[in-house]
Amino acid sequence: MQDNRSIPFLDLAGLHQQLEEELAPIFRDALRTAGFIGGPMVEGFEREFAHFCDSPHCVGVASGTDAVRFALMAAGVQPGDIVVTVPHTFIATTEAISQAGARPDFVDIDEHTFNMDPAKLREYFERECYFDQESGRPYHRKSRAPVTAVVPVHLYGQTADMDAIFEVARRYKLIVIEDACQAHGAEYFSKRENRWRKAGSMGHAAAFSFYPGKNLGACGEAGAVTTGDEELADKVRMLRDHGQARKYYHEMEGYNGRLDAIQAGILQAKLRHLPEWNQKRREVAARYNQLLREVSTSLVLPFEPSWSRAVYHVYAVRTSERNELQQYLTKSSIGTGIHYPVPVHLQKPYRTLGFKEGDFPAAENAAAQVLSLPMYPGLSLSQQMRVVEEIGRFGKVAESSLSVQPAANA
Ligand SMILES: *Cc1c(COP(=O)(O)O)cnc(C)c1O
Repeated sequence: MQDNRSIPFLDLAGLHQQLEEELAPIFRDALRTAGFIGGPMVEGFEREFAHFCDSPHCVGVASGTDAVRFALMAAGVQPGDIVVTVPHTFIATTEAISQAGARPDFVDIDEHTFNMDPAKLREYFERECYFDQESGRPYHRKSRAPVTAVVPVHLYGQTADMDAIFEVARRYKLIVIEDACQAHGAEYFSKRENRWRKAGSMGHAAAFSFYPGKNLGACGEAGAVTTGDEELADKVRMLRDHGQARKYYHEMEGYNGRLDAIQAGILQAKLRHLPEWNQKRREVAARYNQLLREVSTSLVLPFEPSWSRAVYHVYAVRTSERNELQQYLTKSSIGTGIHYPVPVHLQKPYRTLGFKEGDFPAAENAAAQVLSLPMYPGLSLSQQMRVVEEIGRFGKVAESSLSVQPAANA
C-alpha cells in the first residue's frame, strides 16, 4: 500500500536519485579503464578521507567489520588476548574481535550517552584483573588471558568519552581501537589537549564502515582504517591484500579485504557532501529535541554532553513503552528501528562466554527501551512535525488506557 504521508526510517533511494548525475560517470570511467581494484580512485579517496578525519593515514578495506579486525591485528592484538568493548553495539564489533583471534569481554555503558562508561572500564581492571609483576600488564583473573586492547564504540554518531578511556588505557598499556563505524565526522572535545578531535583521529587506529545506510555510505560494501601510525597502516595494507608487501611476495597470510575502485570513487564524490549532510542531521536532531519536549514528558531524548558534537547516525529516544510506540508508529506509516534489541553478551554465539541477564544492566535497559526515529539529511520539517504529532497522539492513547479498564483496549 502506498501512503503518500508515509515517512521512511531512511530514504536512501531519494538521496541517490539526487546524486545520479554525479555518480554515474564514476561507473563509466571505471568501465573504460577496467581499473576495478586499487589504483588512483582508491588512493584519492584514502587521501581525502584521512584529511577529513584529521588523521595522517587511511587504508580502504572491504567493510567496517574488516576495518575493526585489521586494525586490531595490525595494532598487535594476539590470538588468545582479551579485548574489552561494550555490549550495546552492533555484533560486528565483537565478530571482528573474535576474527582477530581474541576474546571479547564487556564493560557496561553510560545510560545517558549509550557509550562505554569509563568508570566501569576502570572497575573492570581493578576487580577482574591481576597484574604481571614485571611488565605491569593486566591479565584476566578467571581465564588468565592478557587484556591487551579496548574498543570504544562511537554509537549513534556520538563519540565515547575518550579522555577518560585513554586515562585507563595509558595506565594499563592498552591498545585503543575506535569503532567509528557510525561516527564519520563526529567530534570530541579533549580537555586534556584543550581542542576538538575528530572521530578516527584519537585511537591507535579507528575503523569506519561505509555500508550504504551509514552517514557516508558506498553503493555496496566498503570500510576504512584510519591511523596516525605509518607502520600500522602498512600492516593493514598487507592484511587487506593477502599479506603481500609486493605482488606475489607474501609476508604473512592475509585476507581478501580490499576496497574496490568504484566504491572508492563513489565515496570520494559523496565525501564532499558529508559536512553538509552531517550539519543537516544535527539540525534534524535539534528540531526533534525541541518538538518532542512539547508533546511528551515521558520520552527520554538523546543526551549530547558539552564535549560532544554528534553526527546523529541514529536519533534514539528511550521509553518503557517502546514496543507499543513502535507498533503505533508503524500503523501510522512511520518507519522506526531498534538499535539494538538484544545486547551482544546475550546473543546466541556468545552463550559459551557465560554471561547472563543482569550482568550489564544499563546495556540491557537500553536494548529494551531504545527506539530510533526517522533520521536522514533530507527529512523535512513537515515530516518531522508529523512524526512528533503521532508520538504525541500515542502518549494520549497510552495515558487514557492507563486510567480506563485494560479491557477497553480490545
Ligand atoms: C556498521 C557497523 C559495523 C560494521 O560495518 P560493516 O561495514 O557492515 O561491516 C561495525 N560496528 C558498528 C558499530 C557498526 O555500526
